[in-house]
Amino acid sequence: METHAVNPWVAVAYLVAGVCFILALRGLSSPATSRKGNRYGMFGMLIAVVTTLMTHEIASLPEIVGAIVIGGGVGFVIARRIQMTAMPQLVAAFHSLVGLAAVLVAVAAFLNPGAFGILGADGNILTVSRVEMALGAAIGAITFSGSVIAFAKLNGNMSGAPIMLPARHVINLGTLILILVLTGLFTNSGQAGPGENVLFWIVVALSFAIGFLLIIPIGGADMPVVVSMLNSYSGWAAAAMGFTLHNTAMIITGALVGSSGAILSYIMCKAMNRSFISVIAGGFGADAGGAGDGGTKEQRPWKRGSAEDAAFLMKEAENVIIIPGYGMAVAQAQHALREMGDLLKEHGVNVKYAIHPVAGRMPGHMNVLLAEASVPYDEVFELEDINSEFAQADVAFIIGANDVVNPAAKTDKSSPIYGMPVFDVDKAKTIFFIKRSMGGQGYAGVDNDVFYMDQTMMLLADAKKMVEEIVKAL
Ligand code: NDP
Repeated sequence: METHAVNPWVAVAYLVAGVCFILALRGLSSPATSRKGNRYGMFGMLIAVVTTLMTHEIASLPEIVGAIVIGGGVGFVIARRIQMTAMPQLVAAFHSLVGLAAVLVAVAAFLNPGAFGILGADGNILTVSRVEMALGAAIGAITFSGSVIAFAKLNGNMSGAPIMLPARHVINLGTLILILVLTGLFTNSGQAGPGENVLFWIVVALSFAIGFLLIIPIGGADMPVVVSMLNSYSGWAAAAMGFTLHNTAMIITGALVGSSGAILSYIMCKAMNRSFISVIAGGFGADAGGAGDGGTKEQRPWKRGSAEDAAFLMKEAENVIIIPGYGMAVAQAQHALREMGDLLKEHGVNVKYAIHPVAGRMPGHMNVLLAEASVPYDEVFELEDINSEFAQADVAFIIGANDVVNPAAKTDKSSPIYGMPVFDVDKAKTIFFIKRSMGGQGYAGVDNDVFYMDQTMMLLADAKKMVEEIVKAL
């Protein structure tokens, strides 16, 4: 059997890069250390890239540099142009590219095994390489098609509502079993030939299909789990590529992304009160309702408030809890909000920010925006740490959030968000609810009883404009 001699210096360099990536993840676990974490990550990546450039085996230096210049250039332009609100779909698009790259690497290795050094003494592809190749292609294809659907749902190209195929669990399970069986046959087929070709390409095609099938039934408010799950898949796809390319750094990095994405998916499932297994199986959301379906709207009385009302009541309050959501990101209201918080603190008000794990459109979305506006970390609280405090709060100030404060999640079994823990804003003495209209709903597309509560005042306006007016009134 052919083995790959690894230059010990290369192994050490990749190990150092791997350690940097682990330190990066550790740093990123808290907002206070996240910048340091990012620096570790960049340094690790520099070591990995320079080492790869120095030891390039498969492609020539001009080819690698050319690819970096083209890819980096496109990435640079996209990153400069992208709106902050389109970040979640951009992340989904980037995941899809990782998946596609894994498929292409596996295909390249399959078509030209000699160049990858994976031929055995009998002139056939080594069994272990077949396993790596089939896994890389399968995971990559699932990541690609799943991410394309997630992109389309998040970008509004496709309805966010769940698409439920009849007997979807049977179809999904059958397809997965077929992929495993064909992978087994491909691995054991032993020699190059038409049979081997057919098996490989069917595994790739079925994997593209299963990625699609797993994501289309997921809708309503359940997309956060999908985003983190695809993040995990993209890591495993990269790890599989690392095996095919005999690149230790890629295996380590892929495994780190894969496992941290899996942990994030688990955290998201816990936040949404969903079962992890049913997420993997696809289509775990409620069978009814779903994003953008409008729901049934009733004509119920509600109260409109003004910036002056909000300024007056909050100035007099002892405890104010601010709940930011996706609308704050759309309006880019975080800086004005911090200014408002600072002014309230000057008036002796105790101000806290409450962040729901699925607020916004990507994990950590609100944390990033508040950190950008220099909101002190010790004023920012997670759901389980602050939820009991609403009973003592004078004001719950909801800015662009909706689903994460919707009590239907606690009471209405037919709601697509049923079961998701939400903020108990209804326990606060007064609620200010900023959104632009009574018509626009949250991502899950369901009406919200909080609009119509006795203690609620609707502040209907763009979040940034409204907060700026409150700041003026303060
Ligand atoms: P929602 O999407 O539930 O609600 C957003 C609210 O913001 C709406 O009420 C909207 O009403 C309002 N809004 C939009 N633009 C503005 C603006 N310029 N000024 C003022 N208000 C505005 O947000 P939440 O953060 O509460 O919930 C997140 C939802 O997204 C959850 O359902 C979650 O599952 C889902 N999701 C989360 C992901 C994640 O990873 N965090 C990923 C994908 C989905 P109006 O239009 O009337 O202004």
